[in-house]
Amino acid sequence: MKILVAVKRVIDYNVKIRVKPDNSDVDLTNVKMAMNPFCEIAMEEAVRLKERGVGTEVVAVSIGPKAAQEQLRTALALGADRAIHVETDERIESLAVAKLLTKVVEEEQPSLVIVGKQAIDTDNNQTGQMLAALTGLSQGTFASEVIIEGGKAKVTREVDGGLQAIELSLPAIVTTDLRLNEPRYAKLPDIMKAKKKPLDTKTPADLGIEVASNITLLKVESPAERQGGVKVGSVDELIDKLKNEAKVIS
Ligand code: AMP
Repeated sequence: MKILVAVKRVIDYNVKIRVKPDNSDVDLTNVKMAMNPFCEIAMEEAVRLKERGVGTEVVAVSIGPKAAQEQLRTALALGADRAIHVETDERIESLAVAKLLTKVVEEEQPSLVIVGKQAIDTDNNQTGQMLAALTGLSQGTFASEVIIEGGKAKVTREVDGGLQAIELSLPAIVTTDLRLNEPRYAKLPDIMKAKKKPLDTKTPADLGIEVASNITLLKVESPAERQGGVKVGSVDELIDKLKNEAKVIS
């Protein structure tokens, strides 16, 4: 069973985000980039399925600038057998990503596609669902457990206030939630081996897809600075402040 995993290059989740002085975008100058955490979980799940003998080949795909090859090399070090890089410097929206992934799915014919539930830079939470719509494949979003059995995928989904169990016919698209697994770290020998694993490069034009965005980013703002706290002398003073200053109780 071939498994395709989509991995996105994003700002490392440990980095404190800086906004450009003109508020036009997030400042990416000299910022540490990494694999989107939900894509790490997707990679881990694919590798575990392969280790269990359910998966036979894991293919990682990333769409983005040349530097996205760093995240593909990480995917290869984590256990992907080969990688596909669709190179573009355009700011691409989820729909364009889903269209490109549709083409890759058509070429690769995987039995399972695993993507993150959301990219932590744009917070879109759209690509998996759009990919399912475009390919006509079944989808299990926000997965906290995936079991492949008898040509089906049993997916436990994290829904508001509980869990939902569904069964999907394969091929299927699964999007990963936080509790699906705990991703491993790449070991040094695997990082070295990953350098020799195959990495194919394509362009959106090779796949016949127009990636120009219909969305204009107007403004990005940092959250308001936190104000310092105050010490109150008594419960009465606290209640007075909550009532008359913060106006959160009446
Ligand atoms: P989003 O819908 O943009 O929040 O992203 C959800 C998931 O779609 C990510 O976790 C990735 O698995 C996949 N994805 C989004 N953008 C890309 C990209 N540029 N390259 C590869 N995968 C992507």
